[in-house]
Amino acid sequence: MSDARQVVIVGAGPAGVRAAQTLVAAGVRPVVIDENARWGGQIYRQPPANGGFERSKRVLYGFEAQKADALHTTMAALLTHIDYRPDTLAWACEAGRLDTLAAGREISVPFSHLIIASGATDRVLPLPGWTLPGVFTLGAAQVALKAQGCAIGRQVVLAGTGPLLYLVAYQYAKAGARVAAVLDTSPFFRQVVAAPKLARIPSTFAKGLYYVGWLKAHGIRIERGVTLVAIQGEQNVESIEWRASVGSSTSETIRCDAVGVGFGLKPETQLADLAGCRFRFDALNRCWLPELDSGGRSSVRGIYVAGDGACIAGADAAELAGRRAALALLDDLGIRNPRGPGMPAAASLERELQRIAVFRAGIETAFAPPAHCDAQWPDDMTVCRCEEIDAGTLRRCIRDGEANEINRLKAFTRVGMGRCQGRMCGEAALQLLAHETGRPLEAVGRLRSQPPIKPIPLSPALYADDVAEVPEEARDE
Ligand SMILES: Cc1cc2nc3c(=O)[nH]c(=O)nc-3n(C[C@H](O)[C@H](O)[C@H](O)COP(=O)(O)OP(=O)(O)OC[C@H]3O[C@@H](n4cnc5c(N)ncnc54)[C@H](O)[C@@H]3O)c2cc1C
Repeated sequence: MSDARQVVIVGAGPAGVRAAQTLVAAGVRPVVIDENARWGGQIYRQPPANGGFERSKRVLYGFEAQKADALHTTMAALLTHIDYRPDTLAWACEAGRLDTLAAGREISVPFSHLIIASGATDRVLPLPGWTLPGVFTLGAAQVALKAQGCAIGRQVVLAGTGPLLYLVAYQYAKAGARVAAVLDTSPFFRQVVAAPKLARIPSTFAKGLYYVGWLKAHGIRIERGVTLVAIQGEQNVESIEWRASVGSSTSETIRCDAVGVGFGLKPETQLADLAGCRFRFDALNRCWLPELDSGGRSSVRGIYVAGDGACIAGADAAELAGRRAALALLDDLGIRNPRGPGMPAAASLERELQRIAVFRAGIETAFAPPAHCDAQWPDDMTVCRCEEIDAGTLRRCIRDGEANEINRLKAFTRVGMGRCQGRMCGEAALQLLAHETGRPLEAVGRLRSQPPIKPIPLSPALYADDVAEVPEEARDE
């Protein structure tokens, strides 16, 4: 391979590691960038290397321990064949160049080919009291357990919907935390309706049933089809109020000191957006996603997207999609696809991905986020916590006719303009705008990404040197 060609992978989760493995097998040495200190991504996240706590893989990853171990071992074996850059945040992307921050230093990384395997984040929908100390996303609640060996509280309620809801409840209870209740906004009948699709991957379906059965057998209260009314407390979380069904007039309060809440996941697409990739609205994921071909090629030559960062499909699909994107990249470089054990052909990867896609549709049916919950949001409820914008401010701006598109709403109110860049509040702002203007989500626009995509420190000293030039050849690709 010519030196001018630099292949970069963002993300060392299941998709990124399998992409790297496939490239290395074909003789390519990629740069692998990850903001985490250790590889594994979200599902196979590892505790700190010099950790204050020790838990076996069996305990940390449960049924997924073998898969976690396989991925960790693969990556460990790759280290001498790749340029691995942990603790490195890719905070901006443009033609042929990523801007990264590592150990407080800005380093510009040129690329001729880029695989974005940046995974997903929690889909956050607000409710009154969601900004109280003691409220975490479900993902964050799990990260606390996996990476820090601690629970978010002594008496925890897990609320929202999605497979992670039951998994986190199970992991918390197994680890000895007290789970006061699991409050699922999705009604049970949806889960029954979705069963035939979920049964397309029997082992995963069975695991889901096991978690629910285990929770029930251990006396953990599970309520389905609930409406979350408010999280209450003076200084910290003290309780959560919920109603049995939409429209029911009586509510119940459960005492707790922490709440983990989430409504599924959404892909982290900001780097693809900054790179200029074309997007399309995806009804299943309820968001705008990069347009990709079956190999993960985006509309920008040399940029590929794989794993949950392309569309939410889970860890097994992420491994397949990572391999598939690497094969597409190798094809585009004119390099023969690697053959051998653990190196499936593109066609078989695509077949398996299609099978998982049916299962994924079942998950969305079973755990759809609540429709029209924005109608219940009081005017004084904070929607954008970075800029302290409440629902009333957004409604007034929309009703006054100032904004009927999400980027205009952002410009007028500053919603989504703060540290999170809309990663937390964007979904809520879009829902509110769609509801207020009586249009579907896809008709109110797409929140455009802006660098830095995640918070970075501002200090001139950081940006003085170490900025490598983009090679001419890389720009031409
Ligand atoms: C918080 C959370 C917890 C989850 N827990 C589970 C679980 O327990 N079980 C389960 O089945 N599924 C879980 N999922 C879903 C599961 O993680 C994914 O299906 C799977 O890990 C996807 O693999 P991936 O390689 O696409 O992405 P990920 O595993 O998310 O890996 C993406 C990697 O990219 C890195 N990255 C992202 N953006 C940047 C950037 N800008 N710069 C540098 N690095 C970056 C991240 O640090 C991460 O290591 C979870 C998802 C989330 C968000």
